Amino acid sequence: GYRKGGYHAARPGDRFAGGRFVAQRKLGWGNFSTVWLAYDTLHSKFVALKIQKSARDYAHAALHEIELLSALAQGDPTNSKCVVRLLDHFKHVGPNGQHVCLVTEFLGDSLLRLIRYNRNKGIGLSRVKEICRSLLVGLDYLHSELGIIHTDLKPENVLLVSTINPAKDPVRSGFTPILDRPVGSQYGGTVISFSEKMLKMRARRAVAKISQRRVSLGGFAAEVEKERNLDGISLKCKIVDFGNACWGDQQLAGEIQTRQYRAPEVIIGSGYSYSADMWSFACIAFELATGDLLFAPKNCEGCSEDEDHLALMMETLGKMPRKIATSGTRSKDYFDRHGDLKRIRRLKFWPLDCVLVERYNFTETDAQGFADFLRPILDFTPEDRPSAAQCLKHPWLN
Ligand code: ATP
Ligand code: MG
Ligand code: MG
Repeated sequence: GYRKGGYHAARPGDRFAGGRFVAQRKLGWGNFSTVWLAYDTLHSKFVALKIQKSARDYAHAALHEIELLSALAQGDPTNSKCVVRLLDHFKHVGPNGQHVCLVTEFLGDSLLRLIRYNRNKGIGLSRVKEICRSLLVGLDYLHSELGIIHTDLKPENVLLVSTINPAKDPVRSGFTPILDRPVGSQYGGTVISFSEKMLKMRARRAVAKISQRRVSLGGFAAEVEKERNLDGISLKCKIVDFGNACWGDQQLAGEIQTRQYRAPEVIIGSGYSYSADMWSFACIAFELATGDLLFAPKNCEGCSEDEDHLALMMETLGKMPRKIATSGTRSKDYFDRHGDLKRIRRLKFWPLDCVLVERYNFTETDAQGFADFLRPILDFTPEDRPSAAQCLKHPWLN
């Protein structure tokens, strides 16, 4: 990754955009970029700095993401629509080439981490509801106001809103900010623009220690891990990673979404729209509530992961209507002309509400309420799925 055309190798203390942003530490990475916590010396606040790989295709993808994020920011002046806010963007030239950089607001841990810390037991229904509300506000905004399909909704791409300010609370955040060049570096580092004296001291120590520190995004994970307890932590969240998002009327890729969150119409190749995001949303809600993936398909003997996936869906949701099953460009790979799977003949039906009671020990009432909310979103007919706005009105959330 760290070569010509690839990632930019940043270090704590590095400056970007003519000195305005000071890199603090790496928050995460993906196939396209590394993401750093950075200090914005102009506005005296922490931001996330996404440094894209430099090759042409990556630069192009970053520009596409900027286009979508700009539209999202423009339509949401009060920053209340539960999507990540783009603050700025610029180009940075380094040894590996020219990197497009996106500056966004700094957020906390992903739902993936939240789920991992609560493996096999879920996070409790009231918290699931809270997160569902945020997600639906975000999706309603994307779908009905902007006309954008996210196409890669999954726990990793939803970040909690961090309640910890690393500058005010360096102890809780698990790291110490560097607000200027490390003291003694070739640049001198004498100009420390930040107000608090104490932080100047800490910054010095941080230079030595920063590489050893355990990464704890916004401190949230560390906190949850230590206490195994989510009380008092805000569960507002925001949708991130618009690198694969598209305008509803300009769909490019045929195969979208990450496997476990992929909608049936994508697998059978019958076209997709906003409702594919809704399918992923339902998968995430189930995972938050139970700690397990709703569908975890495997390559099994004599059948593909795709076919196993379709079988798992039907075992939980009932048989796919023949008309739908046979409507895709790839239908013939999986279904016979009666709409039955070719290679998996015996399905073990286990409806969602029963799974919740029998496998996850939900009370009958909780299982009914939750299944009643999820089932319509998991309709095999994409057009029959409720929209995000309709879901927000569901009694389960109110
Ligand atoms: P992918 O390969 O998934 O497309 P990517 O290179 O496009 O990845 P992102 O998914 O945008 O990168 O970001 C990578 C990781 O960086 C995220 O999963 C998250 O852990 C972290 N991250 C991204 N944005 C922020 C933010 N605003 N605040 C805090 N952490 C962030
Ligand atoms: Mg990502
Ligand atoms: Mg991406």
